[in-house]
Amino acid sequence: MLAEVLTIGDELLTGNTTDSNSTFIAKGLTERGYWVRRKTTVGDDVDEISAVIREILNRKPEVLVISGGLGPTHDDVTMLAVAKALDRKLTLCEECLEKIKGFYEHLYGEGYIDDPELNEARKKMAYLPEGAEALDNSEGAAPGAYIEQEGVRIFVLPGMPREMKTMFERGVLPRLGRRKFIQRKLLAEVTDESKLAPILNETLKHFNVRIHSSPKGFGKYIGIILFGESKEEIERAKAFMEDKGIRFEEGW
Ligand code: ATP
Ligand code: MG
Repeated sequence: MLAEVLTIGDELLTGNTTDSNSTFIAKGLTERGYWVRRKTTVGDDVDEISAVIREILNRKPEVLVISGGLGPTHDDVTMLAVAKALDRKLTLCEECLEKIKGFYEHLYGEGYIDDPELNEARKKMAYLPEGAEALDNSEGAAPGAYIEQEGVRIFVLPGMPREMKTMFERGVLPRLGRRKFIQRKLLAEVTDESKLAPILNETLKHFNVRIHSSPKGFGKYIGIILFGESKEEIERAKAFMEDKGIRFEEGW
C-alpha cells in the first residue's frame, strides 16, 4: 500500500508556483488507505525526470502519481520523460487525437481561438508511452496516462490544478479501490510534546499503528493522527494511551 508522488515543473523549484498538486494527490491517496512514502519535485528536464522515475520504480511502490506539463509547448516533456524511463516508445493514440481535434474545434466554435487546425504542437499531446491507457481530460486538451510496469501502477496527470484534480477524481481514484487502512484525528490534553513522547514511543512498540503528532502551540492540546489497518487496532492503541493518563478529545 505504499505510494509515491512526483511533481514536475521549473516554476515549482523557483518558488513561483506553490506545489499544491502534490498535497492534493497525497491527501487523496492517504484517504484511500495508501501510505505516501515520498513526494519528489523536479524541473522540466527529460533526463532528470526519467532518472527520478527509475529511482522510484526501484523502490517498488504500488502506486506512483505524476503531475507535470502535458501541454503543447517545448517545456512540456512529461510524457517523453515517462516513456524514456519505462523504455517505451511514444506512440500515437488515435482516439486521443480525435478528442484533441474536437477540443480545438469547440474552442474555435466558441470564438476562443482563431484556428481549429491540428498543428504539430497540438498533435504532440496525442502521443502516449506504448501500451498506456489514456485518461480523459475533461478540462483541457492533453490526455493523461495509466501504465503498469514492474508491478507499479503509474498515473500521469497534467500540471494545471483544475485539470489534474478532475483527472485524479475520475481517472485515478476509480482504479485504486479502497484499502482498510484508516486514520483517526484526536486532540490529546497535554501541554507540551515532551510529556507525550515516551507514551507515543511505547504505543508504537505495542501496536501496529503510525502516529503523527502536531503541537497546537503551547496551549492545552496536541493534535494526534493515528493511522492503522483496522479501527480496532486504532481503538486499542488509543485505550493504551488513555491507561497511561492521556485524555483525548475528538477531532481537529
Ligand atoms: P500549459 O500548456 O498551459 O503549459 P501544461 O500541461 O504544460 O499546461 P504545466 O506547464 O505543468 O502544464 O503547468 C500549467 C500550470 O499549472 C502552470 O500555471 C503551473 O504553474 C501550474 N502548476 C504546475 N504544476 C503545479 C503544481 N504541482 N501545483 C500547482 N500548480 C501547478
Ligand atoms: Mg507548460
